Amino acid sequence: MSGKRCCKPTVKRALVCVILLAMPARSAPPPHAPRQAQSPRLSDNARVRAALDWLTPNISWVNDQQARITEIPAPPFQEAQRAAAVKELLAEAGLAAQIDKTGNVIGELRGVNEKEIVVVSAHLDTVFPPDTDVKVHRDGSRMTAPGISDNGSGVAALLALARAAQSARVKPLRTVLFVGDVGEEGEGNLRGMRAIVDNYRGKLKAVVVLDGSGTDHVTTKALASRRLEALITGPGGHSWSDFGMPNPINALVRGSVRFINTRVPATPRTTFNIGQIEGGTSVNSVPHEARLKVDIRSESEDELARLESALRECIAAGVRDEMESARDRSKGKLEWKVELLGSRPGGELAADSPLLAALRAADEFIGNQSRIERSSTDANVPLSLGIEAISIGAGGNGGGAHSLQEWYDATGREAGLKRALLTVLGVSGVAEEKPR
Ligand SMILES: [Zn+2]
Repeated sequence: MSGKRCCKPTVKRALVCVILLAMPARSAPPPHAPRQAQSPRLSDNARVRAALDWLTPNISWVNDQQARITEIPAPPFQEAQRAAAVKELLAEAGLAAQIDKTGNVIGELRGVNEKEIVVVSAHLDTVFPPDTDVKVHRDGSRMTAPGISDNGSGVAALLALARAAQSARVKPLRTVLFVGDVGEEGEGNLRGMRAIVDNYRGKLKAVVVLDGSGTDHVTTKALASRRLEALITGPGGHSWSDFGMPNPINALVRGSVRFINTRVPATPRTTFNIGQIEGGTSVNSVPHEARLKVDIRSESEDELARLESALRECIAAGVRDEMESARDRSKGKLEWKVELLGSRPGGELAADSPLLAALRAADEFIGNQSRIERSSTDANVPLSLGIEAISIGAGGNGGGAHSLQEWYDATGREAGLKRALLTVLGVSGVAEEKPR
């Protein structure tokens, strides 16, 4: 707390709400028009200033929390222990903190308007299985450990923002929820963010996702993806005596060859990947099952749907081909199915959205330039429902995400923290005390 915030008892004060959105919203002038001098800058607000000032002397605290959180394992579907630690830290920061039914931690900074909500979130989960060595090795500002950047840096930033806002007694106009969410990675299928969006639907005005390091990008376009599993089953038998019976692996291979010859457009960019294939029990057995997992992604939902039906058709054709060429169909037939393992919806933030304007104003404040990106993140969920959302890095630098050599360098992380804080407060708005 800076001294100038102390109230003299003789001075009457009134709470005057000033919407401090860094730039006007949809009525904003074109980019080349001069800045509106009458629009107060967010960073001119004394409490916002105090929150920004809190960050610099507390960077080593932020680094320590990042190491501490990273050392609590959080494999997919096993985030509870990490969630409990984050809840405690949010409560220590002075927020009302709770864990919801899905396992998300939520710390509330109540706004003047409780009916409108801004969420700032960082996913708790990692891709690493429970027995992974998550000990953090520190060398100056550099830390190495699985999950240190993705998303140790995001969770640490979430805690820093909560602490900075609370210790500066920032009163937002819209209620800000600090959320550590579960299930972002892989087959978690964004279940944490889906629950948040479901529970606060109607009130939720914007979502700022902190994921990984850096300040170089802003994800405003949600890359849609689907994950599918194809399974082919048959009676199975002996390689010699049952030769000629329909073979699920043969059928899967026939179907896969058809599928990988499927044409996909360069624009809208559309991709597919057969990531896992398995089946059979021994080299001298006709297998009784074969399966493969496919990840498909596209800038267009239509292409995604087209590719999903192509996979179904190809697997069906592979089974048909195998049945037709089987020498002995009397020994049973093949069954097949293709199941959706997960689906991430697409969406896009409007170029003139207030949230993007707040981010751009924050970039300007820290002297940063960032590029627009399309990616698959927690922001997919709100964006697909028309709720404003972005995903940004939490500052500093990192690399080797999803590998055991993952690293994070905290040098310059304040810039990322300031950028995130100003973006969140820019879109929540801030109340200001003014002398009467
Ligand atoms: Zn991540």
